[in-house]
Amino acid sequence: MKQNFDDMLARARESIESAQTEVTLQEARVRFLGKKGELTAIMKEMGRLSAEERPVIGALANQVKLTLEELFANRLAAIKEREIALRLEKERIDVTLPGRKQYRGSKHPITLVTEEISEIFLSLGFGIAEGPEVEKDFYNFEALNIPKDHPARDMQDTFYVSPEVVLRTHTSPVQIRTMLKHEPPVRVIAPGTVYRRDSDLTHSPMFHQIEGFLVDRHITFGDLKGILTAFVTQYFGRNIGVRFRPSFFPFTEPSAEVDMQCVICGGKGCRVCKNSGWLEILGSGMIDPEVFKSVNYDPAIYSGFAFGMGLERIAMLKYGVNDLRLFFENDMRFLRQF
Ligand SMILES: [Zn+2]
Repeated sequence: MKQNFDDMLARARESIESAQTEVTLQEARVRFLGKKGELTAIMKEMGRLSAEERPVIGALANQVKLTLEELFANRLAAIKEREIALRLEKERIDVTLPGRKQYRGSKHPITLVTEEISEIFLSLGFGIAEGPEVEKDFYNFEALNIPKDHPARDMQDTFYVSPEVVLRTHTSPVQIRTMLKHEPPVRVIAPGTVYRRDSDLTHSPMFHQIEGFLVDRHITFGDLKGILTAFVTQYFGRNIGVRFRPSFFPFTEPSAEVDMQCVICGGKGCRVCKNSGWLEILGSGMIDPEVFKSVNYDPAIYSGFAFGMGLERIAMLKYGVNDLRLFFENDMRFLRQF
């Protein structure tokens, strides 16, 4: 019988060593140590042994069983260790691979320009005011000295909600609302969205303006020139040329358009400035006494100036954008550049 044990042990050792997975090892375990396994089969034959042989063989069987148990345990530990090693190898992270880029949101160029311009005027002592985009005819036209027959009221330009209500065509109604609420001195800027029935390469039916005005005693055209020159040079560059050109607006008298030296060609002449070397950026003027009358300011005591500019145009010049439509298409490839 001892020979039987030795043979079985040899076969078991071979099966255990060759087992590569927990499953095949478990199969081997059943084959040798299971209830119907080889060890049990040999033990069954112990009944044929003599009383002297029986304890000796019994002890031997126990020894064999312990040996097998130990072999299985060691092999199981080895298989598990190898599996962990394999998994670590497979799941290894290559820290030298380039990472996936996370895009951070950025402000829309129109928002940027609004904030930058507001910042400059805040530092000059101006406050910020807002008004409704759906506006009464009185604030948008009447109070601003735009008579019923003025071309600016033409259906071509204005979105009418009803005969007396419009989508504001400029930010100027905020002037009227502010002056009706406050006695001078007032110095306010009003950024906002405006609407006109106009749509082509350089016009959008919805666009943005920033309005500004200052009213106090003894305000002259010199103050207007000083403030606007300070703004243009602070925003576009210290050495940029600024000129004031006579113009006409119903709500200012006298009126002036403000040009700055072309930022693209430096004044030499190019396509953007139509070879003039100058770019028109602002409308301005001394507030018309007729406007003061409609807000109950006494034009004999107070004077003031107002100005307005299109923010899309400023953004195009500031950032070198050549197509107005880019501001409204929300193409991420465009917006991410700011
Ligand atoms: Zn130019």
